[in-house]
Amino acid sequence: MSLLPGTFVVVPLNRREVPGVVWDGPPDPDLPAGRLKDVIEALEVPPMTASLRRFVEWVAAYTLSPPGAVLRMAMSSPGALEPPARQAGWALAAPAPPEGNARRLTPERRRVLALLAAAPGTVRAAGALAEAAGVSPGVVRGLADAGFLVPALLPEAASPFARPDPEHPGPPLAPGAQQGAATALREAVAAGRFGVTLLTGVTGSGKTEVYLDAVAECLRRGRQALVLLPEIALSAQWLERFRRRFGVAPALWHSELTSKTRRATWRAVAEGQAPVLVGARSALFLPFPDLGLVVVDEEHETAFKQEDGVVYHARDMAVVRARLAEAACVLVSATPSLETLTNAEQGRYAHLHLDRRHAGASLPAVAAIDLRAHPPERGRFLAPPLIEAVTETLARGEQAMLFLNRRGYAPLTLCRTCGHRLRCPNCSAWLVEHRAQRRLQCHHCGHAESPPAACPECGTASSLVPIGPGVERVLEEATALWPEARRLVMASDTIPGPAAAAAAAQAIQDRQVDLIIGTQIVAKGWHFPHLTLVGVVDADLGLAGGDLRAAERTVQLLHQVAGRAGRAEAPGWVLLQTFSPDHPVMQALVSNDLDAFMRAEAMARRPGGWPPFGRLAALIVSSEDEREADRTARDLGLAAPRGEGVQVLGPAPAPLALLRGRHRRRLLLKTRRDVAVQPILRAWLARVEVSNSVRVQVDVDPVGFL
Ligand code: ADP
Ligand code: ZN
Repeated sequence: MSLLPGTFVVVPLNRREVPGVVWDGPPDPDLPAGRLKDVIEALEVPPMTASLRRFVEWVAAYTLSPPGAVLRMAMSSPGALEPPARQAGWALAAPAPPEGNARRLTPERRRVLALLAAAPGTVRAAGALAEAAGVSPGVVRGLADAGFLVPALLPEAASPFARPDPEHPGPPLAPGAQQGAATALREAVAAGRFGVTLLTGVTGSGKTEVYLDAVAECLRRGRQALVLLPEIALSAQWLERFRRRFGVAPALWHSELTSKTRRATWRAVAEGQAPVLVGARSALFLPFPDLGLVVVDEEHETAFKQEDGVVYHARDMAVVRARLAEAACVLVSATPSLETLTNAEQGRYAHLHLDRRHAGASLPAVAAIDLRAHPPERGRFLAPPLIEAVTETLARGEQAMLFLNRRGYAPLTLCRTCGHRLRCPNCSAWLVEHRAQRRLQCHHCGHAESPPAACPECGTASSLVPIGPGVERVLEEATALWPEARRLVMASDTIPGPAAAAAAAQAIQDRQVDLIIGTQIVAKGWHFPHLTLVGVVDADLGLAGGDLRAAERTVQLLHQVAGRAGRAEAPGWVLLQTFSPDHPVMQALVSNDLDAFMRAEAMARRPGGWPPFGRLAALIVSSEDEREADRTARDLGLAAPRGEGVQVLGPAPAPLALLRGRHRRRLLLKTRRDVAVQPILRAWLARVEVSNSVRVQVDVDPVGFL
């Protein structure tokens, strides 16, 4: 066979037949020529583009993953490689059977024939034909037996991916910053080459409308556009806006698609039939034939980091994908990451900014409530000033929201008698009480058990007490305070999927809800025009733990939550309950000066060479056998790389020292920015022998440190 690079093929591998892709590049000199086997067949699907092949190689090299593991992500719907099965139907026999037969035709049979005769070449499935003619399936069978009908292939189903219309009238962009930014983005797309633009602007400033304009430009040029959203399940409002802007829905890509839709979508993308695709991070690996634009909305979101399998950051890889495809890339956020801001500052990215809310809506006023001066009642979690503000808001007929980024009733259960704390048997973590379900749950491994009647340690009955609040407990308090208010809890366990999220958003928009109590789900880009008060129950929550980006992430999350308030005419308010109102994070939110905060963050990270001013890579050693984990971690520590601008921290037990029954140790490689970490990591790992019971996971540019 003469096969071009990129062709999808089936090859023998041991005794199996597996799909693969013909790769290019120099042949491996170590391949024993005589032992190569023949390709079994080439598949009828458009070949993988050179740009996607280079991307697969790039991601594999950057993340230290086997190229096959990355290629598998680009072939994530194996069924799509087979041509779609075409179903059989029935057509009129030509020539028709002799006249004599026709005289014996019943009215039922005539109706069937008339349907098929209506247009020449009509083919219909037996069931559909019988139904349309109002006859039983037996009538169709009888006609076939009598030679009036012959089997034929049904025409291929029309693509379910309608072409979004770039000229569909969208809202006119506001003169000034909005139009200016849109023009700049359209030009970036029209240029037809790689470039990255950071689009920032306060929450509600109309960034989405601006980048949808760039999508329209990409459509006009006949290239495909990819929009990455951090949590597609929570994007009902976004999809509705897309529909309003372009007249049709975009193609979707996320983990909850049925395998049938997955197959159809993958194939439609490969065939260039899905002009706009909106997806989660894995959409980067779809086989776009001619990608012209990649948008990453909420680029600061940690949900873009994939933490298992091939460990990669979809925002960073989106930039690479765009570069290899000669496409424009747009990173969008009201609260951009320090990494991206630094790239913009150093001129690697262009920067567009929208400085005010659309249609004159004002930004919410943010104030801190000092919990030392205004403590909540004993066993309660809402301080008097916040209670008063909610009461007034509800009295005005406006909506209020209480935000607490913690699911369940209480994060910790403690024995009053002996001090014992209930913990997960598989993880170093407390069990979280979910009172509505009468369960104690581990949020890391899913372990669940019934609440014990007595302390498992000292045996004292009724001695276990909940410590601290989760959203369920805030709901309990809110129910007592505002029994008349219509309440809605938004957390991943009460809003289990896209449909539930869409319904919740609609109920809020339609004012069927007065008080929303939610976890980080509520921080996403929702537009709730009647919401005027946001209360943050524990603004200090994200600051514990000492992670490199804890402060940055807290500012981003709380600013996004705050941004839900006052998006229409009525002004919005935000109250932060905190024990440290003077903390730079609270000051940044109160003064609404995120720029100053990010400048201070940069100043704090630069001297120590922390990202983005230096590079990090983590090694996570894990094993069910604690001694094995320790031994490998120690060996890695002894074999640690040395050199100018290279430093290794650890090994040390991971904060989650036990996770799903595996003991975990961490090492952290820290280098200067001009040092490439991959060759160092490769050489380091090659120096250490790792037994089969131990896994060493490499995480380049780690986001989580647990
Ligand atoms: P951001 O993405 O910056 O948070 P959005 O794009 O969500 O802001 O815009 C906020 C609100 O303003 C949305 O309801 C959006 O539909 C509306 N909006 C933005 N720009 C326009 C415009 N040019 N015309 C009409 N409505 C707009
Ligand atoms: Zn657990």
